[in-house]
Amino acid sequence: MTDPNAYTVEIAQPDISPYRKGNTGIEYATTIDSGKPGPHVMVTALAHGNEICGAIVLDELFRADIRPLHGKLTLVFCNIAAFESFDPAQPEASRWVEEDFNRLWTAEVLDGPRDSADLRRARIIRPLIDSADLLLDIHSMQHPSEPLVLAGPLAKGRILAAEVGYPALAVCDAGHAAGKRMRDYAAFGDAASPKNALLVECGQHWAKRTVGVARETTLRFLARCGVIDPEQGPLRFAEVPLPQKAVEVTHPVTITAELFRFARVFTGLEVIAEAGTLIGWDGDREVRTPYDDCVLVMPSKRLYRGQTAVRLGRFVAAH
Ligand SMILES: [Zn+2]
Repeated sequence: MTDPNAYTVEIAQPDISPYRKGNTGIEYATTIDSGKPGPHVMVTALAHGNEICGAIVLDELFRADIRPLHGKLTLVFCNIAAFESFDPAQPEASRWVEEDFNRLWTAEVLDGPRDSADLRRARIIRPLIDSADLLLDIHSMQHPSEPLVLAGPLAKGRILAAEVGYPALAVCDAGHAAGKRMRDYAAFGDAASPKNALLVECGQHWAKRTVGVARETTLRFLARCGVIDPEQGPLRFAEVPLPQKAVEVTHPVTITAELFRFARVFTGLEVIAEAGTLIGWDGDREVRTPYDDCVLVMPSKRLYRGQTAVRLGRFVAAH
């Protein structure tokens, strides 16, 4: 299971070339304006180039000729250069070009001197992200795992996740030591701002089911934001949501040593009953669960210094 080729690519990358020109002055970004007052709602895909479920759903929304009932809707394909290098024979290779697009989202990095293909794209789409009131950023996961929504560290994220009500697990977390995510950027990470964002992890990157989760999450998010009416038009809900549970991440395990390894194969959302259970080694340092019923969130295959190996959390009362 540690072989990156262990997971079959069951879905095909869509042709997004029709959306290149867009209408925002930024390639692969299109705004559809209802002409009526309302929030600026945004859905983003391909922050990671090999997470193609979101691109499939945006393509579907365009094909359905989606028109927001209120406000504006902007659809953005993010890391195009990474996506364009997607090769089903080497699907792990196209997550990014030079660095992780979803760890760049602070003014310091965006305004700073650093340069990379991924950072250049982030700088280009930044004004759009700045103008969004409500953002859904669609992702997928390395391992097969129940889908989850990353609601961020603030109550407002958790409340929005509960209002969307899908998928059935909300994870409240502060992100990664390696850099800030788009969902935590600027006003999204400010408790005093009404702007709000969610990141959804829809399942294993290339599993068919992942696309269904991405579609259902997006439609429910758009309905919550008043963009669509699920009772009317072609964009209908397909699933009956389960009651949402919430996990609060208390310990992101950031790799400090040259070598990190897990004590066994973890694919995510394992609940480790006993506090003190050994789950891995960061160099020579043992990594043990800090409390009973510890939940492992998104164990990574990219076990490099500075990266998050896994996030440890516990179930909390749903909002
Ligand atoms: Zn991702």
